[in-house]
Amino acid sequence: MNITVLGSCANQISNREGVALLIEQGTDNLLIDCGPGIAAAFGRVNRRMSDVTNLLLTHVHGDHITGFPYFVWNRNFERMGSTPAQDLHVYGAKDTIELAQFAISHCYPEIHFSFKVHYHVIQGGETFTCGSLSVKTINAIHTVPCLACSIEMGNKKVAYSCDSLPNDELYPLAKDADLLIHEGMLLQNAEIMAKKVRHSLAKDAGAFAQKVRAKHLALVHIAPALLGQENSLSSEAKNMFDGMVTIPYDGTVYCI
Ligand SMILES: [Zn+2]
Ligand SMILES: [Zn+2]
Repeated sequence: MNITVLGSCANQISNREGVALLIEQGTDNLLIDCGPGIAAAFGRVNRRMSDVTNLLLTHVHGDHITGFPYFVWNRNFERMGSTPAQDLHVYGAKDTIELAQFAISHCYPEIHFSFKVHYHVIQGGETFTCGSLSVKTINAIHTVPCLACSIEMGNKKVAYSCDSLPNDELYPLAKDADLLIHEGMLLQNAEIMAKKVRHSLAKDAGAFAQKVRAKHLALVHIAPALLGQENSLSSEAKNMFDGMVTIPYDGTVYCI
């Protein structure tokens, strides 16, 4: 399984995008989230949005969903004059799917896309498949309804916390994960603020990685103000976790 980190930041800035993950096993795929810089993110790794057939929108916050209508439009545009893209399946909680549908119908009321978009309302606890990829979801602990998930193929597993306070409900999904991608947005000195806005610290991610015995922890959703201080984030996580800790850049690819 290949995991391409299309975006790794907590916010879009000049050279970094909000968190977006492309999970692939052969041609089976799942894109997680679709922030405002999704087209640039695909361009940076020389990939096509029209090859993506499944999308999980984790929640309604702008850094995770505002690129959705443009993503769908690009799937059409990239294939003009050639074979149309396959249908797109979009998964998310009720409010997230309603926002996605509203955005498409109002951004592009005049366009008849050459493929269908199938919307699937799911609740935390539900499972769906993308070919050989098995996706399990749970509710994250955030300020709005939000889905964390794991993706398994054979005996390989990647788990993703999404935007969330530390969440023990993620334990069964993340247990023994080959790769745990966990929010590590802030340092310990921002603990009060992190709790208020329901985000995790780097040390929270490290503690959870230790608890679930993950093989590898990747910290994402890094606050823009902390870019350049990756060593501090990494060291706060490593104080809690015996395994490997990395902080990906936009374009980093993990193979498990
Ligand atoms: Zn976010
Ligand atoms: Zn959020």
